[in-house]
Amino acid sequence: MSLRQNKTVNLIPTRIELARPLPPLTYLAPEGIPPGVRVRVKLRNGAAMGVVLGPDATPPSVKLKAIESIVDPFPLLPPNLRDLLAFAADYYAVGVAHLMPLCLPNVLVPDWKVEIEKGVRLADLRDEGRWTELAALGDAWHRGEKPLQGLLHRRERRGAGLTEVRRTGVPHPLKVTPAQAKALVALEEAGGAMLESDLRERTGVSAAILALLESKGLIQRTKRLDLLSRRREEGLDHRVVLNEEQCAAAEAVDLARFGAHLLYGVTGSGKTEVYLELAERVLSQGKRVLWLVPEIGLTPRLLARLEARFPGLVALGHAELNISEKQADVVRLLQDEAPIFVGVRNAVLAPLRNIGLIVVDEEQESSYKSEEHPRIHARDLAIKRGQIERCPVILGSATPSLESWHSAQQGRYKLLRLTQRPLGINLPEVQVVDLRDAYREQRKRVVFSKSLLAGISDSLARGEQAMLLLNRRGFENFWMCRSCGKTLDCHHCAVSLTYHKGAYRLRCHLCGFEAVPPEVCPHCGANHLRGVGEGTEQIENQLQALFPKARILRLDRDTTSRKGSMEAGLLAAERGQVDILVGTQMLAKGHNFPQLTLVGILNADQGLRFPDFRAAERTFQLLTQVAGRSGRADKQGRVILQTYSPDHPAIACAIRQDFEGFAEQELRYREALAYPPSTVLALYRSEGDTLEIAKQALEAQKTRLSPIPGLRMLGPLEAPVSKVRDRFRMHLLVKARQRSAISTALAATALAPGGPVVLDRDPLSFG
Ligand code: ADP
Ligand code: ZN
Repeated sequence: MSLRQNKTVNLIPTRIELARPLPPLTYLAPEGIPPGVRVRVKLRNGAAMGVVLGPDATPPSVKLKAIESIVDPFPLLPPNLRDLLAFAADYYAVGVAHLMPLCLPNVLVPDWKVEIEKGVRLADLRDEGRWTELAALGDAWHRGEKPLQGLLHRRERRGAGLTEVRRTGVPHPLKVTPAQAKALVALEEAGGAMLESDLRERTGVSAAILALLESKGLIQRTKRLDLLSRRREEGLDHRVVLNEEQCAAAEAVDLARFGAHLLYGVTGSGKTEVYLELAERVLSQGKRVLWLVPEIGLTPRLLARLEARFPGLVALGHAELNISEKQADVVRLLQDEAPIFVGVRNAVLAPLRNIGLIVVDEEQESSYKSEEHPRIHARDLAIKRGQIERCPVILGSATPSLESWHSAQQGRYKLLRLTQRPLGINLPEVQVVDLRDAYREQRKRVVFSKSLLAGISDSLARGEQAMLLLNRRGFENFWMCRSCGKTLDCHHCAVSLTYHKGAYRLRCHLCGFEAVPPEVCPHCGANHLRGVGEGTEQIENQLQALFPKARILRLDRDTTSRKGSMEAGLLAAERGQVDILVGTQMLAKGHNFPQLTLVGILNADQGLRFPDFRAAERTFQLLTQVAGRSGRADKQGRVILQTYSPDHPAIACAIRQDFEGFAEQELRYREALAYPPSTVLALYRSEGDTLEIAKQALEAQKTRLSPIPGLRMLGPLEAPVSKVRDRFRMHLLVKARQRSAISTALAATALAPGGPVVLDRDPLSFG
């Protein structure tokens, strides 16, 4: 609808929030348009989408432009979610217009608008400025009534067309026609379920035949977001009887009100069964479950279990969905057709109504924190969302973040423990190899200790699998000249280049810059270049030479960049087509390799050397997770951990699988050095064409912050990586004992949008 030609609408100055770097601007918009409605406006250099904030009582005295069009008939997001957005906008000092795209895919918009314009009733209402009626419609919708059902259904049919066909009954051999049998056989072969379009393409059967089969009760057709059932595994829908601890944990969660809980138990101790139990209770109350996971690709088993337990009720939101899937996703959520929503980070802002439970699985994972603007932390927002929705939140982990552990110790989160070892799962036997001894003995730096080599030979001889971890890609970490001592660095970043032998390139892992390896040193011309620090590519080569008959598979970011290659590799390993897996930490998580009995960690200290106060915590988490990979019910697993510092608490505690011991020591250290969780941090990051420019911007911010009490400031200092893509980077770190001190400071010293400085609240990475 074009507003400018419409005389009946009363246009008044209205503040519209646009995405940064723009501040909110004032446009003419229909009187009474509710805050939260998205509109399109014209800017000097094109169109933009904005969010209505409300009437502007003191409009600027220039000629105001009218908005171009109205995108939503009423605020699409449920009121509770709008409250959460308002909180997040304040907390992270970003505009609501920035957070909106995380809740609703922008691509919904053009489609949506067309539909609304076709819907005569709606268009009429808007033309006459009868916002109250529209708002009432919207309220009804948010309450769960479906006044707009027809509209949404049309959209969904057009946008998505995702119908899944599932096999349900056993046909009598005489009662199906050949065409029907063909469809059933194809379904059988696909594991019981597939997309209707795939099925029809593969078998050539018509929709009528499928309808017939459905009427006979032999198949079922359901609208779905993602084909969880492709991942269906045998025997997952069995129900377990919760043990005493699991029952106690489930009973301790009051579903009628907000409460934050930390469910702490080793991998396999039955946390997921507790979530499932609670989810079932919540569904039976007619409420919904928001279930966050760190990464979709790493949770195939969880998804299969969910689908087995709640067939057809689970929707999935993640980055790899295509546009029409995302649209279907949002429409389904808005219509409440998927009472369980599983998703990654941004799913915490999903337009889900009437939430009765929020689960944050593996709450310690850093992928919950966004490392780009807006830098939200999904775990923290999940707690806030639980408060707003008045429902319990459960954070689960085998190695909780020290933030959450600390909150539990202080009684802010209720601690629920699962201490029992699950049936038949043995802890692996951990053997520590002190690399200093190995060096003394062999008089050279040791990559594979004797014990590790013997362990690999053993597992090969028994036909079992071994996994070796090294957190460094490439062949050699960097090249240096033995004559002048200089390293070969990226031309655009302050890091050295990594040698990739297969590609025969020196590469920058930050910006992707690459160069053909030179013959002689570009600094001094000597031909004494040598590579330092082996990476996974070299480990793979060396292993192949040591064990020529072994089937070796390397999984790291270089070998898995093609879509689906990671899954293919993991599947091959699960099926026993691989003898030795070599890879980076991406291998440590979530997979289930039944034949794996040996895990070798080549250099456990590697992560400890990072200049980051969380280095020990991350190392502990990684080592504990890795150790959990090895060993199954019927075979004793082994971990061989090579290290130069066996006495470091992170390593010593990981060997004993002693989280609490580690947490106690580490929390004391954090307290002594005033690091989180005993303090809260905010990191101002600035970028400029020179270090000086980047620094000045931070100096200015520091001056503005300095009168505010309760803050300690460090910097401005060069960022640990002081240049990336030719932009120089500086940091200003702000510490406070109280979260409120930081909030006050932020409110008083808001940054100019679009400036060189950005804020990273509760920073996780300091790179
Ligand atoms: P976690 O989430 O802590 O890693 P899971 O809930 O996945 O643990 O449990 C690990 C395995 O043990 C699963 O196969 C699960 O079905 C099984 N399991 C959990 N609790 C019980 C129980 N009370 N009785 C029998 N099996 C159980
Ligand atoms: Zn670079």
